[in-house]
Amino acid sequence: MKSEKILITGAGGQLGSVLVKALQNKFGIDNIIASDLYMLKDFDGIFEQLDASDISHLETLVTKYKVTQIYHLAAILSAKGEQNPIHTWNVNLNTWFNVLEISVKHNINKVFFPSSIAVFGDMASKVHTAQDSFLNPSTVYGMSKTAGENWGQYYFLKYGLDVRSLRYPGVIGYQSMPGGGTTDYAVEIYHKAIKNEAFECYLKDDTSLPMIYMDDVIRATLELMDAPKASIKIRTSYNLQGISFTPKDIVNAIKTFYPNFKVTYKPDFRQDIANNWPSSIDDTHARTDWGWKPNYDLHAITKDMLEQLEKKYN
Ligand code: NAD
Repeated sequence: MKSEKILITGAGGQLGSVLVKALQNKFGIDNIIASDLYMLKDFDGIFEQLDASDISHLETLVTKYKVTQIYHLAAILSAKGEQNPIHTWNVNLNTWFNVLEISVKHNINKVFFPSSIAVFGDMASKVHTAQDSFLNPSTVYGMSKTAGENWGQYYFLKYGLDVRSLRYPGVIGYQSMPGGGTTDYAVEIYHKAIKNEAFECYLKDDTSLPMIYMDDVIRATLELMDAPKASIKIRTSYNLQGISFTPKDIVNAIKTFYPNFKVTYKPDFRQDIANNWPSSIDDTHARTDWGWKPNYDLHAITKDMLEQLEKKYN
């Protein structure tokens, strides 16, 4: 296999911190360059402090390490993004423009862009939301991802840049904490259960959302990036489904392990965001084009989350 040098932006986040380890295992620790706004504590491997809004610094790193692939994870997420919409738009789009421009200039082989179920709004059907649904996102984050997907496709069509993308559902993992999304409750709730604390949920108990376990989402990302170029038929972003459930479902799953777990519900502004999102996603194209299949259902997620967090806290 030809050796790759892979740069990851936003590598210190919920996904990046796990994806970097997976890439290090796959390609070798010396071939992975992790970067983020802030230095990471106890980081094992190559790390560079990088604000991806700074195109000349980005270019310096691409040249310095002879980078061949970029995973552009840096972004401001849905709930946090609403606090400062213009700033969110600027960060999410400008960092992406920088990655696209530098990738064309330096003949980068492949670029990964994570999109989100936040691209869908109330004009898409809520159940088994189709790949080609009308996109009218209600958040600035969703608007930035919708535009970002189209910019990725534009660079593919205009310059032949091999941009690949997934519309991630809410990601659940024990390894890291989420960074300000609408689905964060589904991680926080397990931490509360392990600590024997009550949980106050900011979504209503019957709010069904598409979610995915960290193992599955990392595997989906690596499988998409490994797929032969000719099999990638969608150059905006692939729908991706893991498992859909409500807060009530997750509480019931936790109660099979922790029967005394207590939850109260106090919906806040994140309920309005969730109301505009799909409850499940039709990912037929991902399954057909490059063989996607999730492994984890809610019981398997709950069992693994609780086992892993018990080790972490005890
Ligand atoms: P996160 O908020 O945990 O991490 C994002 C990282 O980006 C942070 O470490 C932050 O410091 C960094 N960052 C922000 N602005 C930056 C800049 N200007 N330059 C460099 N770094 C910057 O997010 P995450 O959950 O790890 O998400 C990673 C990607 O996946 C994002 O693009 C996000 O939109 C997407 N995504 C995540 C989820 C999810 O449930 N976690 C769902 C859908 C899509």
